[in-house]
Amino acid sequence: ERAELSGSGTVVKVTNEDFQRHRHILAVEDALNNAIYQNRIDVYYQPIYHTKTHTITGAEALARLNDPKLGFISPEEFISAAERMGLIHKLGAQVLEKVCQFIATHDLKTLGIQYINVNVSPLQCLDEHFPQLFKNILNAYHVPSAMIHLEITESTHIDMGLLKNIMGELSAMGVAFNLDDYGTGYSNISLISQYPFSTIKVDLSLTWSYFKGENTILPHIVKMIREMGKNVTVEGVETEKMAKELKQMNVNDLQGYYFAKPLPPEAFLSYLKTSS
Ligand code: C2E
Ligand code: MG
Ligand code: MG
Ligand code: MG
Repeated sequence: ERAELSGSGTVVKVTNEDFQRHRHILAVEDALNNAIYQNRIDVYYQPIYHTKTHTITGAEALARLNDPKLGFISPEEFISAAERMGLIHKLGAQVLEKVCQFIATHDLKTLGIQYINVNVSPLQCLDEHFPQLFKNILNAYHVPSAMIHLEITESTHIDMGLLKNIMGELSAMGVAFNLDDYGTGYSNISLISQYPFSTIKVDLSLTWSYFKGENTILPHIVKMIREMGKNVTVEGVETEKMAKELKQMNVNDLQGYYFAKPLPPEAFLSYLKTSS
């Protein structure tokens, strides 16, 4: 145990765990800073299966940080670090650029891919320059806006009214929005009806608790979203049994380890070639 003197003169105990945790946070921040500066954030692709055609028609782009010293750092850790450090705008732009580069250099359309989902932090979206930046990156690679779907997670920390304006601007450019991680936060129904979301993504925790028999609400949520005229993607599909039952529930798209884990670009391309 280490002891420290706080400003007021009282002794604040800093345990070894506190010390190690803090050291790890600093190491992650340093790794992230270097990776962004050196444009070393990788993008993996997780296939998304369309139940109507029984084929892979899309994918989700997921950021990866493989540090020379620390190895792979979990996205949850480095995304929140990027938000905290004001680096999320740069990170987001690098991810979007890599996705566009990937689309531009491979004929994904002939491999059946109609869209790539790109996660955006609400913070990143709230920047007034975001729509223009988005447009510039897509134009530079001649990627049509309909090819990119933006995924946003509901957040209580942000000004949803302002977000609505920016979403409106991007929607007018032909960009579709997904509401991510549905079932973890407030799972607001008004959010679905008042914002231009075309797809609602059910969080894997809700999927898993349903298949463990811990909730019976999943089919009702799916039915409700479908009746509102929106698409449903269910995340965390890990078994054939889950896939079958979700198809019967009229879920539009399925994502999960049963189909594939997030794959590096080359492995994703081979997956598409062998699965089609
Ligand atoms: P998300 O957007 O909800 O992404 C889905 C997460 O679930 C991914 O985790 C994916 O690997 C995982 N997953 C999908 N299917 C399964 C399954 O069947 N089993 C299990 N165990 N996991 C599954 P990942 O890649 O660790 O990403 C975590 C979160 O980090 C993402 O959640 C997203 O919120 C954030 N993230 C990732 N890349 C980016 C990015 O480029 N920008 C931003 N702003 N956030 C990102
Ligand atoms: Mg997502
Ligand atoms: Mg999600
Ligand atoms: Mg998530």
